[in-house]
Amino acid sequence: MVSITSDFDHGNVRVINADRASDVRLEIKADGAADFFQWFYYKVEDALGVDLTMRLTNAGGASYAPGWTDYRAVASYDAETWFRVDTDYADGVLSIRHTPEQSAVFYAYFAAYPVARYQRFIEETKAHALLTHEIIGETIDGQPIDCFTAGEGALQYWVIARQHPGETMASWWMEGFLPDLAGDGAAAQRLRQAATVHVIPCMNLDGSRRGHLRTNAAGVDLNRAWRNTKSDKSPEVYCVRNRMRETGVDFFMDVHGDEAIPNNFLAGAQGIPSWSDRHQQLFDRYSALMLDVSKDFQTKDGYPIAPPGKANLDIANNYVAETWGCLSLTLEMPFKDANVNPMPDVGWSPERCRAFAREHLAVMAEIAGEL
Ligand SMILES: [Zn+2]
Repeated sequence: MVSITSDFDHGNVRVINADRASDVRLEIKADGAADFFQWFYYKVEDALGVDLTMRLTNAGGASYAPGWTDYRAVASYDAETWFRVDTDYADGVLSIRHTPEQSAVFYAYFAAYPVARYQRFIEETKAHALLTHEIIGETIDGQPIDCFTAGEGALQYWVIARQHPGETMASWWMEGFLPDLAGDGAAAQRLRQAATVHVIPCMNLDGSRRGHLRTNAAGVDLNRAWRNTKSDKSPEVYCVRNRMRETGVDFFMDVHGDEAIPNNFLAGAQGIPSWSDRHQQLFDRYSALMLDVSKDFQTKDGYPIAPPGKANLDIANNYVAETWGCLSLTLEMPFKDANVNPMPDVGWSPERCRAFAREHLAVMAEIAGEL
């Protein structure tokens, strides 16, 4: 009989019945203090050569159930190298089928990014001479909120990731972005000359460790907490917003993943009260530059545009755009694959996230002269 556990950093699943490997019944647990759920991450042991069929029986009630269509789960033997496995979704149940070639195997919604890995990355990143590291606050669970700064230019760039802990592609993106920002590439040098770049590699460490999809330890969706942030309920946003008030903001990017849309895309802050032609021109310019440098970027798929004045100012991107009048972007990456440049074996993947981040850095450098 196989054994299944998710009682570890970033894990999430509830075992209903694992008596028969051909019909394992699982459920995804809701974020502790909120109703959101979609992130799953668990380990199966004693599974060598076993034909596993694992059914996530409450998938139909997940926060973004349309995200299961054409979706394939990821698996890994070492929680480092991930590959896609047979998955189908029908009648509200997500079924994952796999015959492991090793005894122990991990399954997840997307390549997992536990806090332990984050901490290793932070330690490695601190070694870069051109990056300054600072702890600017503490989460509810007492974890440090890390901030890196690079460059000495007058423009103030802010790049943040992982407000939503289940969107691990944002952390893989940071693994490409931060080392490149600290490196001797031409774009990084140009960007550091033009701007001071502030980077929050993980906004939601508590939700990450707890295996949440969307919220922090208090059940707060951080990306709905920017206008009325509270130091006790959303300290992560509170301390970043305070720091932004000290520096000002000339460019903002908030990095996410989208459950349903099978492509990379940007969301602007259309719909904020102060939206102007200049806002639109900068948004279009950034998009055009990305289309030039990236095979993985596109502008056809994306969110509906909010009507004038109807933007939700609790969302980071809108709040920052309205407060500082700057180019402000939400970047969304897929859980599935980028249909403009599909790679069926891996789908959208950690390696592709890292490469995509380096393309964004090039465009951030390019657009500095126009901000
Ligand atoms: Zn998100």
